[in-house]
Amino acid sequence: MTRILHRSTRQSYPIAVGGDGPYIIAQDGQRYLDASGGAAVSCLGHSRRDVIEAVQAQLDRLPYAHTAFFSNQPSEELAEHLTSRAPEGLEHVYFVSGGSEANETALKLARQAAVERGESQRTQIVARHQSYHGNTLGALGASGNPGRRALYGPLLADNVHFIDPCYAYRYQEAGESDLDYALRAADQLETKLQELGPETVLAFIAEPVVGATLGAVPAVEGYLKRIREICDRHGVTLILDEVMSGMGRTGTLYACRQDGVAPDLLTCAKGLGAGYQPVGAVLMSNAIYDAIANGSGAFQHGFTYIGHPTACAGALAVQRAIERDDLLANVIGQGDKLRADLTAHFGKHPHVGDIRGRGLFVGMELVADRATKAPFDPAEKLHARIKSAAFARGLVCYPNGGTADGTRGDHVLLAPPYILEDSH
Ligand code: PLP
Repeated sequence: MTRILHRSTRQSYPIAVGGDGPYIIAQDGQRYLDASGGAAVSCLGHSRRDVIEAVQAQLDRLPYAHTAFFSNQPSEELAEHLTSRAPEGLEHVYFVSGGSEANETALKLARQAAVERGESQRTQIVARHQSYHGNTLGALGASGNPGRRALYGPLLADNVHFIDPCYAYRYQEAGESDLDYALRAADQLETKLQELGPETVLAFIAEPVVGATLGAVPAVEGYLKRIREICDRHGVTLILDEVMSGMGRTGTLYACRQDGVAPDLLTCAKGLGAGYQPVGAVLMSNAIYDAIANGSGAFQHGFTYIGHPTACAGALAVQRAIERDDLLANVIGQGDKLRADLTAHFGKHPHVGDIRGRGLFVGMELVADRATKAPFDPAEKLHARIKSAAFARGLVCYPNGGTADGTRGDHVLLAPPYILEDSH
């Protein structure tokens, strides 16, 4: 009997013992093509010697030193690497151990900076339906994922308000131009701010490309620019959650580059350490950093493992490998190819409603009826059946369920490693 509380107590899991590029090898010898990088994590595959050696070298030098006393070389170098490539004004960074911690931290940074600026009345947060920002209570409270919230609703903050995501497949009207739709969707934020009193709103948080909840749904061109304008007009902090979409997944190191927008806070994780180390980061604007630096001088927050030297050494090696091997060009080329192949195979399938995404971040939405876009009955658990049928054939993909109210269908998310080749 296992001692671990696994994700499901009704299922047994093969023991993973080895990695070979995009493949994971189980104890029984079965090879699995990791076409979703787990949950969009393993962007370099599973056997990069350069990253493994960098982690080993750091362990040899110094595994860990607490940040209450020391800084360390890998975190200083990683900070330089990330901020020197970041959208304008994001010149400071805070390292954590994953995506949920990154978003918790971003919300707290927004709050402390507002208080230090004398705006302590800013307490409300606006987020979007069908979003996911993490499973810790603060991040979950800001997540519009009904399934993940349901059990914990009574424990979640009541200062979070939701608008619709920018989700063209379901919400763009017939005959409406992309730009008209993008602006209409973004203007929901303006309406919500007016409802709440804009001076009471601290932050707006969104994923530039919605990952787990919707399956690689990119914002329509013009949406994030309008969101940026609205936030600027009302002094609301814009947090972009690039935990899944960042670090090259969409073809640019930061996904929001493609939208021509720089947030005040940008969170990343997953592809940052590519699974070689658990690590996340929050990039922050000079204004946020300065509010704290010129105010109290200390961020009222902290975890034991912030700025972990070995985690940062692993992430630095990952980021250098992405650049050295020009992998983002491959992300764009293979991403285009993957979407074209999926369209050729499934584009006319009666139950494939939409094929979408950017770079190697690809989603396929499944519907009971293409004409009406009616989702399958969630009781059919289509996504779970796809996941296990694919796994039985040696394919790791990341399907997710639709909702009973029809606001989204089941989907399959693909996020293969950036080293993807035709032969895979
Ligand atoms: N934000 C987004 C967009 C995510 O997709 C996830 C995880 O799937 C998280 C945050 C939470 O990250 P973690 O699981 O590393 O805490």
